[in-house]
Amino acid sequence: MNAELKKSICDVLEYFKAMGFERVPVTSAFFTPAAIIQAAEDRTNYSTNVSHEPAFDKEDALRSLRDEIGDCKRCALSQERMNIVFGEGSPDARIMFIGEAPGREEDIQARPFVGDAGKLLTKLIEKMGEKTGFKRKDVYIANIVKCRPPMNRDPHDDEMRTCSPFLVRQIEIIAPEVIVSLGRISAFSLSGRTGPLTSFSITRERGKFFDYKVGKRSIPVMPTFHPAYLLRNPKDKWLTWEDALAVLKRLEEEK
Ligand code: URA
Repeated sequence: MNAELKKSICDVLEYFKAMGFERVPVTSAFFTPAAIIQAAEDRTNYSTNVSHEPAFDKEDALRSLRDEIGDCKRCALSQERMNIVFGEGSPDARIMFIGEAPGREEDIQARPFVGDAGKLLTKLIEKMGEKTGFKRKDVYIANIVKCRPPMNRDPHDDEMRTCSPFLVRQIEIIAPEVIVSLGRISAFSLSGRTGPLTSFSITRERGKFFDYKVGKRSIPVMPTFHPAYLLRNPKDKWLTWEDALAVLKRLEEEK
């Protein structure tokens, strides 16, 4: 009999004592020696195999968050959007990519990054995955705002502020090890900087991790170029690849 099982039997006996028994009621149909050993074994298995923390189902939590957003009318973007683009991917993602706002194709399909810029992002993710084996479905992709701004204009401050609590909750639930922010609006918004957006240069800031605080956690964010910018400036793709390699290195160190 192993030490853990012996301890469990002692605990069961302590339990009988606490319940006022002076002798173990081994003659009763319920408390045969075999039943006591079984109870002790169950208890051992429970304490070694089962987490005492209530299981946190990330998928459920994301579903509830989506329900809470409902048919959102909290800001002006609701007036012209077709669909809310909540975000998609694995709730257990180690990397989360955060863009700016859905575009036309995303608005139609209610999925993030599915237009031309999305195809380039998918290529980047798959290239990164060649080293570690992940695919697009294994990361999580979201945006700073969940509705398409008319004519793809930049989202306004009040629209980002209104939508931000939902993104914060998504980040809290998924708890990725690294965030990749795509483009200046995403990096500016996640960095929590104030002041005019025009003072923020993604060319200057990209490639340098900063910390994003969520609850008690601090998640490294790698700011990089937006894939739509890379479609217009393909010569800068290698800089984004350098940023991606720094992200992979950080993930490797986290293991
Ligand atoms: N650009 C973004 O920033 N997000 C999308 O989902 C698509 C294009």
